[in-house]
Order: sequence, then structure tokens, then C-alpha cells
Amino acid sequence: MTSPAPKVGFISLGCPKALVDSEQILTQLRAEGYETSSTYQDADLVIVNTCGFIDSAVEESLDTIGEALAENGKVIVTGCLGAREEVIRAAHPQVLAVTGPHALQEVMHAVHHHLPPAHDPYTSLIPPQGIKLTPRHYAYLKISEGCNHRCSFCIIPSMRGDLVSRPIGDVMQEAENLVNAGVRELLVISQDTSAYGVDVKYRTGFWQGRPVKTRLTELAQALGELGAWVRMHYVYPYPHVDELIPLMAEGKILPYLDVPLQHAQPRILKAMKRPANSENTLARLHHWRSLCPDITVRSTFIVGFPGETDDDFAYLLDFLQEAQLDRVGCFMYSPVSGATANALPNPVPEEIKEERLSRFMAVQQEISTAKLQRKIGRTMTVLIDEIDADGAVTRSAADAPDIDGQVFIEDGRFRHPAFGDTSASMHGASGLKVGEFVEVKIIAAEEHDLWGERVAT
Ligand code: SF4
Repeated sequence: MTSPAPKVGFISLGCPKALVDSEQILTQLRAEGYETSSTYQDADLVIVNTCGFIDSAVEESLDTIGEALAENGKVIVTGCLGAREEVIRAAHPQVLAVTGPHALQEVMHAVHHHLPPAHDPYTSLIPPQGIKLTPRHYAYLKISEGCNHRCSFCIIPSMRGDLVSRPIGDVMQEAENLVNAGVRELLVISQDTSAYGVDVKYRTGFWQGRPVKTRLTELAQALGELGAWVRMHYVYPYPHVDELIPLMAEGKILPYLDVPLQHAQPRILKAMKRPANSENTLARLHHWRSLCPDITVRSTFIVGFPGETDDDFAYLLDFLQEAQLDRVGCFMYSPVSGATANALPNPVPEEIKEERLSRFMAVQQEISTAKLQRKIGRTMTVLIDEIDADGAVTRSAADAPDIDGQVFIEDGRFRHPAFGDTSASMHGASGLKVGEFVEVKIIAAEEHDLWGERVAT
């Protein structure tokens, strides 16, 4: 079940610059699924964007914080007066967090901590073991709801219905707003991204006054104009997906495809009701790589599906060797209440499922590790996700947040002693900043992650 959206109350005091800060915070809250509330009583938490320009503004800000605390109790303070945290804490020690102005990320961090966003397990790409909260510089862009397939292990269509594509004008407007608010990477998601627009017969919509078809290639082209990284998830390998590869080769969108294959053996795919053919898939992969050698292909698989024999599993392992995928997730089949696969004969015993999972992962581990080793010595652009005491945690085009690897820059020391542990620590002596792109040369690789050093640009 999707939990109700958490509600945030927002009070914006001060000048137009503070107003822009407020708009950015509100935009990010909306992008992450928060709702806003116009009353203290209805809000789960209140943010007060303060002004500290003159004494009367300080007084007004402190009074407003006091009112919000009395009426609601959970208050985060940001804005100019927040730069003088001691003034706020002296008057109102019970505020949850205090940040200075232009501190979107710190405000969102405090919101996430005190009021986590609603997690939608059916549309989120984040694996069931946990969700990391989206920081300011990347955002998920949902392009449709529902699904026209009826995979036998899945109950999403029975819960969410058939595919309903969002109008391309709306999707593009949201993407543009996100980029304008500081988002550097857009992660396109849906249940079946390749099918975008099928339900509306690829209807023509409008963005920036010009016609754009509701179709994946056209969407990718338009998104590619925004100047952010564009990463495609849940792209089922229909023939028209080939049209994306030249856009990747030209650098319009990231050379990355998340293709949920689930299995390779034709009989199992049929039992899963997946319309795929692994020979075609292999030919496709070769074709994609010939057009865009740098492409990263990620996939997920299920082992131990009912009826999967030793031979079927061996077929899957052979496929894995042949496909040489970059990133792979694998799950043991487990029945979901309401899924038609539950009625299939010959369930695979748990211990065999477990054994297959570990054999599968061992094979893939070798492939992924060897592929990462081959990146040593290469120079690549990375996006900075986090900065900590050891350096910077970043991702390359090959790494989607949370599900893939990371690139660590150990020489990215940032924490200027003068800044201590404040918001200013996001800007470092070495000039590194969360949400920025930097060039690195890869110097080491492990099973999942890379290590790099900065390259002067
Ligand atoms: S698993 Fe199959 S039915 Fe479920 S959402 Fe994905 S494509 Fe649709």
C-alpha cells in the first residue's frame, strides 16, 4: 500500500531572495512527494524561512518560530536568521534543525530525517532492502503509471491497471522545473518505460510551444536538451529501443540502460509471460555495443521460478557469460499473494533457490569485477553525491544511485576547518561541491566500486 503523502507547512519571511529559496525548497518537496499544508494543525512539520536583516525582522522571525512551535511542535528553521543559530536556539531550543540561507540540501536532509517521504514500493526503483532519500541534485521522473503486461510473478497491473502515460508536455515541464531547481540528473522511471505513449497512440503533445510525440525516443531527445544527465530505467528491449542508442553515442542521454530481463531460458520466459527471446536479446546487446561501445547495461533476474530445472538454470548462466552485462541484480523467486505464478507446478525448493542465487551471483561477480578492472586508467566525468571526511563519493554515467556502484575520490578533501560541521562544509577548500560534475582518472577498482583522482580541467 502506498502511504499517505506527508504534509509540510511552510512560512516564508523576508526578501525576494528568501522567496526564491522557499520556492526551491517547495519544488523539491513536491518532487519528492510531500504535500504542503496551509494550517499548522494539518501539517506534520513546519519549515520557517526567516529573515535577519533588521531587528524587527529578527523579532518577527523569532515570534513566527515560537508560534509554529506552539501550534505544531515540529519546526525546522532556515534562512538568514538561521546563520545566527545561537540566537534561535537561545529563544527556541526545541527547534529540530537550523540552517542558513540557500541551504536547500540541508533543509531537505532535516526534513528527510524528521519526516521521511512516503515510499511507493511499486514505482520506486529502490530495492526492497531500503530507500535512500533523493538529494537535491538528482530526481526521479515518473513518465507513466500501470502496465499492459501480465507477467505471472507480478501483481502490479491488478493493482495499478493498464498503462497510463503522462502527457509529454507535463513530463517535460516537470523535468525542466527540476533542472531549473538544481537537479543535475533525471532518472526516468515507470513500470515499462519503453511502452511510453502506447496507450495514447503516441499522441502529439506540446513543450515550449512545439509539437513533441508522446514516445520514448522523442522524450529522450527532448530531455537531452535540458543539459542534465538523463538515465533510463525499466526499458524493456522492444525494437524501437534501438533508437535510443545513437542518442547515447552522441552524448544526449547517458549511455545506460536498465533492462529487466528476469530470465533467459525461453520456456521459463514463457511461463513468466515475458515476451522476450534471449537470442534476440543477445543480438540486440551486440548491436547496441557496436553503436555505443561505452554503454552500461543493467538488468535484474529471478532464479528458482516454478519449473526451473538444472538445465534451465545452466542456460541462464550461459546467457550471463555471453551477455557480459555490467550490473546485475538477482532475486530468488518468492510467491506474491495474487500472482498467477503461484499456481504453477514444480516449485523449486528453498535450498536450491539459495544455491542458484549464490552461483548466479558468483558468475556475475567475476564479470562485473573484470569489467570494472578494465576501467582503470580511464578518465571519466562523475557527479558528486556526498562529501565526507575522507573525500568525495561520486557516480559515473555507469552508476545509477543506490543500485549500482560508486566512484570515490580520496583526494577530494573538502572540509575547511573554518567551516566546521555547518552547511558551508558542502563547499570545500578543494572546491568540490555536492551536485557538481568533475573529471577523474580511475586508479583502482574493486567488486562494485571504483577509486579515482581528480584530473585538472
Ligand atoms: S513485471 Fe511485468 S507486469 Fe509487472 S510491471 Fe513489470 S512488465 Fe508489468
